[in-house]
Amino acid sequence: MNIMITGGAGFIGAHVVRRALADGHRVLNIDNLSYAANYAVLDEFKEYDHYQFTNVDLRNHNSLPALFQEFQPNAIMHLAAETHVDRSIDGPRAFIETNIIGTFNLLQTALSFWRSLKDDAARKAFRFHHISTDEVFGTLADTGYFTELTPYDPHSPYAASKASSDHLVRSWGDTYGLPVLVTNCSNNYGPGQFPEKLIPLMIIKGLSEEKLPVYGTGKNVRDWLYVGDHAAALMTVLSRGQVGQTYNIGGNSERTNIDIVNQICDLLDQRVPPESVRSRRELITFVSDRPGHDFRYAMDISKIKHDLGWAPIESFDTGIIKTVDWYLKERDWWMDIQSRTYNGSRLGLASEGVK
Ligand code: NAD
Repeated sequence: MNIMITGGAGFIGAHVVRRALADGHRVLNIDNLSYAANYAVLDEFKEYDHYQFTNVDLRNHNSLPALFQEFQPNAIMHLAAETHVDRSIDGPRAFIETNIIGTFNLLQTALSFWRSLKDDAARKAFRFHHISTDEVFGTLADTGYFTELTPYDPHSPYAASKASSDHLVRSWGDTYGLPVLVTNCSNNYGPGQFPEKLIPLMIIKGLSEEKLPVYGTGKNVRDWLYVGDHAAALMTVLSRGQVGQTYNIGGNSERTNIDIVNQICDLLDQRVPPESVRSRRELITFVSDRPGHDFRYAMDISKIKHDLGWAPIESFDTGIIKTVDWYLKERDWWMDIQSRTYNGSRLGLASEGVK
């Protein structure tokens, strides 16, 4: 297939591009190389002759039609987004512009292209796959799971912008017949995640024996999925998902934030014994809670398991070891990001450098 992947320089997008290339698909990666882009993967993918990259901003609709005409996609996997909840609280405009307007621009261009396809079979086989999050569903108490039928109830500007984009995509399917697929996934982690997100942030701060800021009481629960499993799920949905359907994706790995930070501290202590404290757990500091902080997310993934035969392979205990070891090995990668200037998140990435 010719697959147009937006946000392919980002954390999950890069894993999807890697997988699609390995499966032999032609890939056009569209990314505006925002602060969150991973420049190292751009060099890695250059090796493939069935890979192309274009630095295009989805907010600029004029630049999109020519890309479709030139690349002739059979499918679009739309991952490009502003993704950090804390940034959405501090500056929501970029989230509205990229996540909502950017998705609208892509939908409109995809619709014109799809309508222009002469061949019925090509029109039928075409897919617009929108990649979204479990945060659109809001929050759960101690029990229960989000299903594909859970009503939307987003609480952060990030979640609200993703919810809007999900609605746009479904309505382009219902109104215009564009063959759409939507997936909503739980929290991802793994190699190459931008260091402002919880797991890499704690690994990097823990390594340099800085304070480890944890929101509220640390009791918020998230369901964690190893990024390679997410990429596999997305390729499964793209190839076998039923048009117009939504699939929930998750890792069956619920953890409180504090459990995760404790586990990272212990793994780091085993690998790099701390100098300033006996255990890195002593560095944990509770900070005032994130406004609108959802208590618990948990995914019911029985539909994708039953209908498409996908299930996560990695357990959290194996995935977190791989992740910690990756960040220990790839210090140049994240130190390079740290040395670039960008607006810090509410929890702040180490600005003093890393020991
Ligand atoms: P990321 O922030 O790591 O990467 C996003 C990529 O999109 C970056 O390369 C960035 O340069 C690009 N981008 C941003 N704005 C753009 C624009 N206007 N035009 C073109 N490119 C633009 O994000 P991620 O964590 O890889 O998430 C990818 C997708 O998966 C997002 O849609 C996100 O909502 C969804 N998702 C993420 C998670 C998670 O835990 N990370 C979980 C579920 C769903």
